[in-house]
Amino acid sequence: MYGQPLTASAAEPGVAYQWLRAGAPVPGATAPTYTPGLDDLDRPLAVQVTDATGSTISAPTAPVARATMTATRQRVLGEPRWTHTLKARPGRFSAPDPDVSYRWPDGSTARTYAVRPGDVGHRLALEVTAEAPGYDPLTVTVRTAQVAHRIDVRRTVRYHVETRGRITTSLREFRRQAQETYDDPRGWRSSGIRFVPVARGGAFTLVLAEASYLPRFSSGCSAEWSCRVGRFVIINQERWKHASPAWNAAHLALRDYRHMVVNHETGHWLGLGHAQCPGPGRLAPVMQQQSKGLQGCRFNPFPTEREIAGRTPRGRAMAYALARDYSPDVE
Ligand SMILES: [Zn+2]
Repeated sequence: MYGQPLTASAAEPGVAYQWLRAGAPVPGATAPTYTPGLDDLDRPLAVQVTDATGSTISAPTAPVARATMTATRQRVLGEPRWTHTLKARPGRFSAPDPDVSYRWPDGSTARTYAVRPGDVGHRLALEVTAEAPGYDPLTVTVRTAQVAHRIDVRRTVRYHVETRGRITTSLREFRRQAQETYDDPRGWRSSGIRFVPVARGGAFTLVLAEASYLPRFSSGCSAEWSCRVGRFVIINQERWKHASPAWNAAHLALRDYRHMVVNHETGHWLGLGHAQCPGPGRLAPVMQQQSKGLQGCRFNPFPTEREIAGRTPRGRAMAYALARDYSPDVE
C-alpha cells in the first residue's frame, strides 16, 4: 500500500538488496526496507536479495494500492433554519494537505450554503470529499438537524373551509393548496403564525366562492375579485381557476397567483391594509393590489421582508391580531 514500508528479510552483513517495480530495478532502492511511492501505484513490487551463495527474487506483491484516508471533525456550522446561511467545516483528514471539496443538496459546491424554503422540514446532507495523491478519495456525509422555519411558532390560528355557489373546481385541491401556502416558509408562517385547518369553527373562514356570490358578502366586494369581510377570507373561484388578466399577461404561473391571493386576503384578516410599491423594480408587497397595477414593482406571491417583519412579535401590527375590523377589503 502507498506509504506503508515493506521489509525484506532482516539485514545481514554481506547481503545486497535491490527493489524491483514490475520486474525493473527501482533506482537507489537498495535498503532492506522500501516505502512505496506514487510511481509504484498499481504495480507489483519484489526484492532481489544477493549474498555469497547467489541471488534470489521474492514473489511479487499484489499491485500497490492507494492508501486509505481517515477523517474527523467534519461539521456543518450555523443554524439550519430558513433565511440562515450554513458553512462547511472541512475537519481533518489523515492524508497530508488534501484537496477538499463540498457538495450541498442542490448540487452547489461553495463552502457556504443559503438555506432554501424547500429545505424546511428536511435534514440536509453535506458531502465533504478529500483527495490526495496516493490515497483513495474519501467522502464524508454530514447531516444537519431538521431545517426549521424562519422563526418558531408564536401563534396558532385555526380556520375552516366553506364554499358558496356552484363550485366547478376541485375543493380538495383548494384545501390542499391553501394549506401549502400557509405552510410555505416564505409566507405568513415566516412571522411565526401557523394556520391549522379544522372541521368547523376556528378564527376565520376560508371561502371558495362562485364569482357572483362575492357581492353578497358586502357591497364593497366585487364579482371580479377576491375579498375579505370580517371573519370571511373569500377567494373568487374565477380568479382561483384563471388568475387575473395582468398576471396572465406577464406569463406567470397560476400556482403563484393562488399563493398570492391566499396570502393577500389572509393578510387582510391578519389586519394588514393595502401597501404601495416601494420603488421601481422592487418586489411588490403581497398586500399591494397586484392585479390592478404594479406601479413599477415586480409581481410577488409572498410577503416581503418588511411585511413579515411587521407581523413578527416585535412588529406593532400584532395589535391587529384579533381582526375585529369588519370593513371589506377588495383585492
Ligand atoms: Zn386587498
